[in-house]
Amino acid sequence: MNPASSFAAAERVMARADALAAISETPDALTRVYLSPQHLQANQRVGEWMSEAGMVVWQDSVGNICGRYEAAQEGAPAVLLGSHLDTVRNAGRYDGMLGVLAAIEVVASLHQQGLRLAQAIEIVGFCDEEGTRFGITLLGSRGLTGSWPQGWLAQTDASGVSVAQAMVAAGLDPARIHHAARQPEAFSCYLELHIEQGPCLEQAGLALGVVEAINGARRLNCRFTGEAGHAGTVPMAQRKDALAAAAEWMTVIERATLEQAGNLVATVGDLRCLPGAVNVIPGEVSLSLDIRGPQDAPLDALLNALLDRGQAIAARRGLTFAAEEFYRIAATPCDASLQTLLTGAVQAVQGASLSLPSGAGHDAIAIAERWPVGMLFVRCKGGVSHHPAESVTAADVALAIAALGKAVSHYGQPLCGDAGR
Ligand SMILES: [Zn+2]
Repeated sequence: MNPASSFAAAERVMARADALAAISETPDALTRVYLSPQHLQANQRVGEWMSEAGMVVWQDSVGNICGRYEAAQEGAPAVLLGSHLDTVRNAGRYDGMLGVLAAIEVVASLHQQGLRLAQAIEIVGFCDEEGTRFGITLLGSRGLTGSWPQGWLAQTDASGVSVAQAMVAAGLDPARIHHAARQPEAFSCYLELHIEQGPCLEQAGLALGVVEAINGARRLNCRFTGEAGHAGTVPMAQRKDALAAAAEWMTVIERATLEQAGNLVATVGDLRCLPGAVNVIPGEVSLSLDIRGPQDAPLDALLNALLDRGQAIAARRGLTFAAEEFYRIAATPCDASLQTLLTGAVQAVQGASLSLPSGAGHDAIAIAERWPVGMLFVRCKGGVSHHPAESVTAADVALAIAALGKAVSHYGQPLCGDAGR
């Protein structure tokens, strides 16, 4: 794609993102949730745009909107592109939608030139990534992988409507969920373009970057237990102050995480102090720890080191320390050859590339269970996302479409459809 045509494509993407932003359950704030009338309406519009781009279009049995641009030889495996079309409440207009709209432009450009690749291209507008309505996430992408847990159909929204009931109301059949599942050989890989939702590209002065992995995470409830006592009578050297211990540990967490290479982040986001009075030495402090990183091994190593330090601080001060993990998600590494492919495409259009982790979850987490995944990030203003102020420039989107098109064109070479295997 030449710069003029990718800029025209970007302008179309911006206009279509505006059109989708108008499909909202509330007029003054963008909210579009799974199986709502607005979800079906957005699917309809996106389906029309896919058709215009020369794709065969269908809505699958969980409510994803899907399109296929046939390969030179009918029935060949496809490169899967896409992202999600649902939103959080009071959302921005690019989180998810940008990846679907940019993918349509890549296909439209091939269609306009009458080109067919060795592999087909399929695009999916996933129906529910955010989990806004039912509190369960990745429903659309887990439809494709065929990994919906049994309990999901009975999950209810705030009004007590179950997923099964909402499906029926939307014209879908809960008994047919498994029809959305795709065979492993259907796709060679999945490429997702998404806004960064963080500030790294902006700080690097780059429009585009390539995701190395979607961060894994651990969450723990931790507790220092000492001895409450009179703030006026207990000498300093004889205190078992739980808050002083927690404070010492928190500075250790910050320093140790900062000193780690490898993009690890750790946060104490909640802290409760008992008994919590101005004139009483704190006897017990409960605090949370959230720790994330793109690779599980360094993440676990740092976590274990931090817990050891917590124990050591408690022991030295004559307190006890306990920690209990209540949430864990593994890191999702992006496929190495797809990272190479995307990095080459990004370098070709902007002269440099940046490899970065994704701090937020994406449909690629679910898809990675079955197919190799790659992700391309686009700079967003101030790193702001899940907010109406979410913003990208047409110039950046033009570069993103050009890079995605370049990566996909790799599948035009009959012998090169092996990325990621
Ligand atoms: Zn998203």
